[in-house]
Amino acid sequence: MKARKFTRREVIATTSAGAIGTMINWPLNTLGSGTFAKEKLAVLGGEKVHKGTWPSWPVWDQTAEKEIVDMLRSGRWWRGNGEYVEIFEKKYAELMGAKRCLATASGTTALMTAMETLGVDAGDEVLVSPYTFIATYNAIFFHKALPVFVDTDPETFLMNPAKIDEKITDRTVAIVPVHIYGLPVDMDGVNKVAKAHNLKVIEDACQAWLAEYRGKKTGTLADLGCFSFQNSKHIPAGEGGAILGNDDDVMDRANAIHNCGRPYGKMKPVAGYPYRGGNFRMQQSQALILLSQMKRIIADNDKRLENALYLDKKLKEIPGIIPVKPASGATRAVYHLYPFRYKKEVFNNVPREKFINALVAEGIPATGGYGKQNKDLLFEEAFNSRGYKRLFSEARLKKWRDENSLPGNDQVCDEVVTIYQSNLLASKADMDDIVNAVSKVYENRAELAKS
Ligand SMILES: *Cc1c(COP(=O)(O)O)cnc(C)c1O
Repeated sequence: MKARKFTRREVIATTSAGAIGTMINWPLNTLGSGTFAKEKLAVLGGEKVHKGTWPSWPVWDQTAEKEIVDMLRSGRWWRGNGEYVEIFEKKYAELMGAKRCLATASGTTALMTAMETLGVDAGDEVLVSPYTFIATYNAIFFHKALPVFVDTDPETFLMNPAKIDEKITDRTVAIVPVHIYGLPVDMDGVNKVAKAHNLKVIEDACQAWLAEYRGKKTGTLADLGCFSFQNSKHIPAGEGGAILGNDDDVMDRANAIHNCGRPYGKMKPVAGYPYRGGNFRMQQSQALILLSQMKRIIADNDKRLENALYLDKKLKEIPGIIPVKPASGATRAVYHLYPFRYKKEVFNNVPREKFINALVAEGIPATGGYGKQNKDLLFEEAFNSRGYKRLFSEARLKKWRDENSLPGNDQVCDEVVTIYQSNLLASKADMDDIVNAVSKVYENRAELAKS
């Protein structure tokens, strides 16, 4: 059976009235209107929509080579006898509009240092978004604290501030909102609850370099903000991380903790080691790579944003495809991945994985988003450990299990389809290929469902 051909009128009827104005200048093939109905899906043996390549990531800048080789030959490889980590910290703080920056070995160690700095301790509870990379939870586990999930808003994919209150207990000490995919969280909402309950707020901005909330950069909107420079990120250096903050005492403490507990800045010098800490330092080679990679971030982000908004505008015309909704106050997203929701009920119940496989076959490198990690085994592994059994009562862990139902997050995990950031650095024609491939799958959904 062929996919039923939609007439233009039927297509218009399935899309919102507000969208009609923008549809007028568009080629029909972006509307799921039958342009591809006679074409065979690539996954079923047809020709693929996108035949070219996609931009690779990361992109090396050869002009950085002389300085790096000079530094390597000098043997001044660690921050203690070199200048580059400090130069990077100054430039990053300036770029982000923060008073201070502390560079770290990774995003995970930035989060761990920030939590230690703000006093997250064994037996504490930390409120966190479940829709994130696993490192966010891991940083909490390293403190022998309990990650407690605040459900995700299914339209924004972000922590819903209205759901925070109900998860606060007398052990809650901090909230960790995550600007996932570079989409800014409603930080006024989060900060308001935090203030009312005297909680610290640490932004996980590990995917949000230069995203903006009410015109200010994410990672500068709470007590501390954490960033990652792992190789897949927008400013890559293999590994690397940073903490931003505006309070000198807090940042001095963070610096001490990341450097074996050695007093720093205005902290009173004391003989021996007065504080606990670790070695979470960035090294010179990371800082030099970052200084060169930082040069491209503004232009790259502009291009990603332009292409993401173009995709939003076109994809929303296809029935069953819903672009992400910005949270209240979000003024600029940076798209570590470009996400949209896929409603399988509009695609003859074709499962999302099959839809993604069909897109990949068309030459579009799509993937799903994060899984339902709140059900992953690491929680029971932690709760059954000797340490957690000592720190948390049976009753508390039972309550955690009873409350570990997150319908908003489940929906996001089931529906989200993503396209990686470097694909957004491709041309307009490549964006049209993405739209056309989704359109083609939609129009051939009946064949796909039967295959
Ligand atoms: C990448 C990432 C981290 C961890 O950063 P690493 O540098 O890989 O340790 C934490 N949170 C989020 C949301 C991330 O994307």
